[in-house]
Amino acid sequence: MEDVRNVIVIGGGPAGYTAALYAARANLEPLVIEGFNWGGQLMITSDVENYPGYADGVLGPAMMQDFRRQAERFGTTFLTDDVTRVDFSERPFRVWVGEDEHRADAVIVATGATARQLGLESERSLQGRGVSYCATCDAAFFRDKTVVVVGGGDSAMEEAGFIARFASKVVVVHRREEFRASPIMVDRARANEKIEFRLDKSVVEVLGEGSVMGVRLRDTVTGEESILPTDGLFVAIGHDPNTGLFVDQLDHDPETGYLITRGKSTETNVPGVFAAGDVQDHVYRQAVTAAGSGCAAALDAERWLSEQRHASVTAGVAIS
Ligand code: NAP
Repeated sequence: MEDVRNVIVIGGGPAGYTAALYAARANLEPLVIEGFNWGGQLMITSDVENYPGYADGVLGPAMMQDFRRQAERFGTTFLTDDVTRVDFSERPFRVWVGEDEHRADAVIVATGATARQLGLESERSLQGRGVSYCATCDAAFFRDKTVVVVGGGDSAMEEAGFIARFASKVVVVHRREEFRASPIMVDRARANEKIEFRLDKSVVEVLGEGSVMGVRLRDTVTGEESILPTDGLFVAIGHDPNTGLFVDQLDHDPETGYLITRGKSTETNVPGVFAAGDVQDHVYRQAVTAAGSGCAAALDAERWLSEQRHASVTAGVAIS
């Protein structure tokens, strides 16, 4: 067991690395337990053109390496492994990686969210090569192309409308006749002459080598299969916040699992535990907003730690 640290950041995406950068520059010597698959959702993104400062664009994985390097430069320590258990019931907070226990006076949770995938091998192999999970990020690459959007919720309707500003045709493929999306969103998509619908269909294979050429559809009623040519596939079937480790200790939305933070701050219901990025934001979900939120969490943690230390010095006791 190591000494008690000032701050542990859990999660190695834009929010976690930015929190670490700020905490490191505040001399808090943070430990980032970044996950075995560090980097987050940007690791399955190819070109990023909407992150300010990268005027010529950047590859998602290269950008995350830059984030990590910048945090490292100011004294961040990294642990490239997955947290297996946490105990926020008393201070110092305890965080386990297998049998190894780490303790800290403050914790920043930045474990992100995971875009739901269809679970197809062909989908995985064409990620970033025509298969995308973020219309805001990738729609502009499909100017004058044909694109398939999978899903029947508000995200699918919204993304179809956004992609239609660039693409020549957008086909929404949904596995049922009824939509989960609100009627107004469906009506708006139906009114868009570039958007078509294929209902009662699921995507069972993404076709193409090196780039997407089409999708194989299966009728969910008759089982009949057909091929739909397309240049891109946007999977818009929802996101799941990575909150499994925390749901018995931190307040969260009972339906969606997203962590709840107070007002504009990153404070959770446990004083000294902060949450940043997609794990608590189901609205914006952008690298730049996650990074901003990570910055806020580090500032909140720093302020909280100095208040606690001031209070404990005044009372003549140790913080923990
Ligand atoms: P969602 O509401 O959970 O909808 C997911 C959709 O994907 C459903 O239609 C579902 O089909 C389908 N789906 C799930 N798994 C699938 C699979 N394996 N294969 C094929 N289809 C699958 O998720 P969301 O659309 O991302 O919305 C999440 C939340 O954000 C909602 O509360 C939504 O209202 C909100 N949101 C709001 C706006 C807005 O107001 N502007 C925009 C975006 C999102 P089934 O219906 O058959 O289950």
